[in-house]
Amino acid sequence: MAEKKRIAILTSGGDAPGMNAAIRAVVRAALYFDMEVYGIRDGYYGLMTDDMSLLSAGSVGDIIHRGGTMLGTARLPEFATDPATRQKCYDNLHAHGIEGLVVCGGDGSYRGASLVQKESGGINVVGLPGTIDNDLAYTDYTIGFDTAVNTCVDNINKLRDTMASHGRVSVVDVMGRGCGDIAVRSGIAAGAEAILIPEIKKTDNQWLDYIVQKLRTSFARGKKYGIIVMAEGVYAAPKMQHFTADYIASWLNANSNTIGHRVDARGCVIGHVQRGGSPTASDRILSARMGEMAVNLLRENKGGLCVGIVKNRIVAADIDKALSMRRRVDKHLIELADILAR
Ligand code: ADP
Repeated sequence: MAEKKRIAILTSGGDAPGMNAAIRAVVRAALYFDMEVYGIRDGYYGLMTDDMSLLSAGSVGDIIHRGGTMLGTARLPEFATDPATRQKCYDNLHAHGIEGLVVCGGDGSYRGASLVQKESGGINVVGLPGTIDNDLAYTDYTIGFDTAVNTCVDNINKLRDTMASHGRVSVVDVMGRGCGDIAVRSGIAAGAEAILIPEIKKTDNQWLDYIVQKLRTSFARGKKYGIIVMAEGVYAAPKMQHFTADYIASWLNANSNTIGHRVDARGCVIGHVQRGGSPTASDRILSARMGEMAVNLLRENKGGLCVGIVKNRIVAADIDKALSMRRRVDKHLIELADILAR
């Protein structure tokens, strides 16, 4: 009897809600096709230390609704810099007879996946976009993004209650690294007055002018409080590091005269809660569809690819091409946010 095809899965880099649903989908789809699946603990670190074991259908039960990743995740900078570390990883994969590897993570994890494909001597690698940031240009959505947006909206809703009671302005800092998608979507869904994203290049003074203008308009039509959403990438830029939510709030408090209304502003960093929590139905379904596609690609001995969703169709893209694509910001959504906040 021919030996069963063996594949493995690891989750790497920042965790994202839906990674568990993706692990489950890969394991169950692979078992359905009579393949064996190793779960590698703690990303490339577990690959280096040979920390892996076979997963059964039961071992991925009761995780579809859980945030985080049952396999754990870690960062191993040496994987990028040290060929001997990588060779150890490849040797471990070969020793277990593993022919295919699914890497669920963000762009850093994908760069590692691309090296495995090129250097390992025959192991096919398929990437699944596990990151809340939605910063991979080849796919419309990444696993975890929808949950993160919903978490932001939940938090802003709660802030809104207290802001409305006290007539305050909240400057809310959301995640996304260099990508403003979480800020744009949560800003629209929460009815924010102003949305600040790194894709729009403005100086600190230009952003402050924009916020003042927006607050003036909304106070003039009778609104008693305000929500400003800013992506963390705004203050990651050089010369912008001082421009945090607290800085903006203090500036607004000190310059209420420019707004024509008394302002009591507060900064709020939503932080790592955005990375946790039960994945939304949308993220679970995305994980299921993408996980199945990853297994199908490996069954067909295809590698060097990453799975995405484009216009609601699950697609496979070349991983190196995907990494070289520049993400475009959805200009219409930004205009829409602007129109609706008037
Ligand atoms: P993410 O995948 O969420 O972007 P990181 O950038 O931290 O997270 O990357 C996760 C891991 O992927 C790193 O700890 C490292 O092991 C590996 N990695 C990151 N960048 C590279 C690279 N340029 N080449 C090879 N491996 C990389």
